[in-house]
Order: sequence, then C-alpha cells, then structure tokens
Amino acid sequence: MNYHLNNDHELLAALGLRPVINAAGYPSRLGGTRLAPAVVAAMSAAARTFVPIAEMQARASELIVALTGAEAGCVASGADACLTLAAAACIAGDDLAAMDRLPDTTGLRNEIVMHRAHRNPFDHALRIPGGRLVEFGYLGPSSGVGAYHWQMHAAFTERTAASFYADSPMGWVIDFKTFAAISHEHGVPVIVDAAPTQLPPENLRRWVELGADLVACAGGKYIGGPAASGFLAGRRHLVRAATMQQQDAFIHPEVYQVPLEETGAGPHEPPHQGVGRVLKVGREELAGLMAALQLCGSRSYAEERRQRIALAEQLIAAVNGLECKGVTANSSDPSNVVTITFASAQDAARTVQALQEGSPRIFVGNTRITQREIMVMPHCVTQEEGKPLEDGLLRAIAAIAHGRGKA
Ligand SMILES: *Cc1c(COP(=O)(O)O)cnc(C)c1O
Repeated sequence: MNYHLNNDHELLAALGLRPVINAAGYPSRLGGTRLAPAVVAAMSAAARTFVPIAEMQARASELIVALTGAEAGCVASGADACLTLAAAACIAGDDLAAMDRLPDTTGLRNEIVMHRAHRNPFDHALRIPGGRLVEFGYLGPSSGVGAYHWQMHAAFTERTAASFYADSPMGWVIDFKTFAAISHEHGVPVIVDAAPTQLPPENLRRWVELGADLVACAGGKYIGGPAASGFLAGRRHLVRAATMQQQDAFIHPEVYQVPLEETGAGPHEPPHQGVGRVLKVGREELAGLMAALQLCGSRSYAEERRQRIALAEQLIAAVNGLECKGVTANSSDPSNVVTITFASAQDAARTVQALQEGSPRIFVGNTRITQREIMVMPHCVTQEEGKPLEDGLLRAIAAIAHGRGKA
C-alpha cells in the first residue's frame, strides 16, 4: 500500500491537511496518541446520539475507580485540566460561594506546597484557579537523602490548601510515601501530576495506595484516549467538588442532582458555571476515554512493548548500518525510545528540520537537541509506517553527513 493513499489520508487531504508520521511519542502538538478502533467507534456512536453528561461522568467514575483503586473519578479536557480542577477543589471544597469567587481566593486557603524540583512547564494549571505555589527544598542532590523533612514541614501554613507532587524521576526529592504522610500530618490533601505515568494500571494504583488524594492522568498518552481528555482519580468529596466546578449547572435547583452524591451531606443547590467550565469535555471525548479505560484492563502491555522493541531494533540497526561518521543510535530507555547522537547540536537540529520537511513528513522528539541527540519514539508508529520512517531517517542522516543540509 502506498503510504499516502489510504482512506484517512484522503479524508484529511479533503480538509486541506497533510498528515505526518508521529515518532515523537504522545505530544499534544501532534494531537496525542493514535486511537484504537473501539475508541473511535465509541466516539462516533456518542457523536450521533445524546447521553446526559452527568450520567457519563458518573459511569466514567466507576471505570476510573476500577482502574486506579481511587474512591471516585471525573473527566476533563486533559491532565492539566484535571490539575486545575484539583487545585480548585482543594481551595474551595464544597463551599458554593467560594467556588463562585475563584480565582479570587480572598479569605480562602490557596497555598500549594511542592518541592522546588517539581516545578514544571505544566504547573501553571495549579495557578489558574488562584493557587499560589510555595516551594521548598533545593535543586540538586545536596544532602544525598532528598530534601530534609524539616524543609517540607516548614512550608505548611494555615493558608495551605494542598501539596503537589509530579511524576518525575528525581532522586533528591522526598519519596512519595513520605511526602504524602507529611502532607497528611498537616491535614492537607496531596495532588499528583501522573500525566507521564506509564501503564500497566498498577502504576496508577500505586499513587493512590501510597496516599495521593487526587491524581491527574492524561487521556491522550498511555491510556489511549482522545488528546482532549484526562481524568482525576481520588477522594470522593474532592472529586465531587472538582466535578461541580466543571459540569454545566444551568439547572433549576428543584431538579439539580449533586454529582457523586450518596450521603446527603454537602450542598444541594447547583453552583454557577465554575472555573472548570472552560475545561469541559463533550460526550465524544467522554465516550472515547471510557472505551480506552475499559481497554486498559485487557491490553497486552508485554506485546505492546515487544512491538516497540522490534521497531527500535530495526531503526537502530539501520542507522548504525549507515556507518555515518559521528552518528550513532541506541536505546537504553525502558519505553524503547531510540536515541540518535550526532556530532553537533546543529546536525541534530538540521536532521529534525529535514525530517519534518521530508516526504512523508516525520516528527521526532526534539527536546535533547542541545545534547546533540534526537529521540525517535515508537509509541504511535504503525507497522506500515515502520519502513517509511526508517527510509526517511536514513535519507535525512545521509544528507547531513554529506553536508547538503536537506534530505
Ligand atoms: C503531558 C503532561 C501534562 C499535560 O497533559 P494533558 O493531558 O495534555 O493536559 C501535564 N504534566 C506532565 C508532566 C505531562 O507530561
């Protein structure tokens, strides 16, 4: 089959679009992950039909509970959206007037405690509902034991609303179990950014088991759902507060039903449209994410890994087989990312550029260009794309080696 002439490419060409090969992982700039047929089918079924969003959220909560072991869950437009909802829930709780006031946090607890090394380009989400980030600890393994506990204790005040932990492998940050225990000593819920957490689902369950109160997960990465979806898993009262600030509450109080309500406790009137209203998901995303969550229970993670390894090995053999001076490929990463090292950062950058402008266009990981590396990520590459990807890489690298600059 000609790579360019399948039906999807024709449909997109009719919209004036030119598809690319995604060898960059699950980046938002390429639209997340590839959706399984069952996920696409659920999305198109929902697109043609109506289901109350509140009922979809309630059912999604059950699926999230089954996958993560949390008490409840809700769906928003991404992991970052879920972090915004999580912060909003910790700041306002189930106080309807406080929800209405956000992002003005006058009189409310709004400080969010985190290790300095966990600051990251996504944590703006915590500030959107009025959260104020309070950092402790140092950058770097200064003591060899992570941050000292006293450093973390000292960060809590009567204004602390939550603490925050990012899933990133940094040895000098307090381990998560201790982090959660210290937070709970101060009576403060723990928010986790688990967007980069890989499956199998035990990895998500571990956050909950070790004490996370709210875990934000991306739908469009390892879960295999739509890019504009993500879910929050956690304590029932916090998830309820989060979802109240997101769902359309344009409902007469007489017929309003509080989400996730069982106990009769908490508010019974609807809030106004909350800060989470801008993070809404449609029924297509909800249905797609729900189908993906269901699949997560039965996917063969070992087989998926085997396929990634096979492609990685194919690409490594091909690139090293070129015997291009200064260019080597290897993979040491557990997620089977192929790292290609160049003689200079400029060569790496020019290769990325050449790949993006080639035919077919190929997008690879570009965050390590300064280290003279490009990263070829097999996660979203289909079997049919394997050969065009290999050929494109070889053309781009050969062109660099011959100093022509472009493939
Ligand atoms: C991808 C990512 C996010 C954002 O996830 P979305 O679902 O795209 O909103 C947040 N934090 C980290 C660390 C991520 O890697």
